[in-house]
Amino acid sequence: MISPSSPRVFFLAPFAATDSPTEEEIAASVREDDAAAPTLSVLDLGASRGDGIFETLGVIEGRPQGIEEHLARLGRSAAMLDLPAPHIGQWRAAMERAVASLPSTGQGSLKIVLTRGVEGSGVPTAWIVARAAASDFTERRDGIRVVTLDRGFPLDVAERAPWLLAGAKTLSYAINMAAIREAKRRGAHDALFVSSDGFALEGPTSSLIVRFGDRIVTPSTDGGILPGTTQAALYAWLEAEGYRTEYEALPVAALEQADAAWFVSSVRLAAPVTAIDDRPLAIDVALTTGMNAMLLGR
Ligand code: PLP
Repeated sequence: MISPSSPRVFFLAPFAATDSPTEEEIAASVREDDAAAPTLSVLDLGASRGDGIFETLGVIEGRPQGIEEHLARLGRSAAMLDLPAPHIGQWRAAMERAVASLPSTGQGSLKIVLTRGVEGSGVPTAWIVARAAASDFTERRDGIRVVTLDRGFPLDVAERAPWLLAGAKTLSYAINMAAIREAKRRGAHDALFVSSDGFALEGPTSSLIVRFGDRIVTPSTDGGILPGTTQAALYAWLEAEGYRTEYEALPVAALEQADAAWFVSSVRLAAPVTAIDDRPLAIDVALTTGMNAMLLGR
């Protein structure tokens, strides 16, 4: 039995990007399954090796946020892992169906997953989990304390060692989750990854945005970090609001001059950072409110 609050799961029989299925064929290629049923093979390389990719989108009042941006990033991650390019039309249709299974009010999320499939099959596995959000969202107002943690790689890791897949959104998030646990052990809410050569990077599940006066800076994505869809949406809004926006190699030491900072991501939206290590940071209430209002109103 599927209750309205349970996650809903939709499996895709993936088409190749070069296929030209009809609308009926696309509709027939997406089937809903019981999220509690054992529908994923234990031999799936996504489960046994974390060999796959994913995206998480926010859904606000029944509106999925940034579908095209997330699909573009899914395609980019697929290319980095030598996975077959996703058939965008099929994913779009499956996402629409998954969104329609959610309540049309409140906030929720879609997690879309593409794995290398069952070992030896050569066929990728693909699914979407749709769920209503359980969070109370207070961190968007009250903020989070973060601690800097060494990621162990230099800023040019993506160029030097592309096989480390820095900047791809892979299913291998055990390290990211370990970093959040370490941050909590240190009395903070979240971690800010730092390159081994001392540059601020990103959170384990979010992008960093920093305000220095009327200049807004985010670490440049050639430093082996994920290009954030929320950061990009905020940059477009901030530019329209008259701020200067920049992508930079951002030394951790420069954060001491920051006037405000945020961790931003698709489901969290904009959480103001109230401390980086032992240094407190004031919440920019007006800008935080404006950012979240824009993200909620998209
Ligand atoms: N960086 C990492 C490592 C992430 O996992 C995420 C999102 O999960 C982000 C940044 C933010 O990306 P987006 O704004 O597209 O959700």
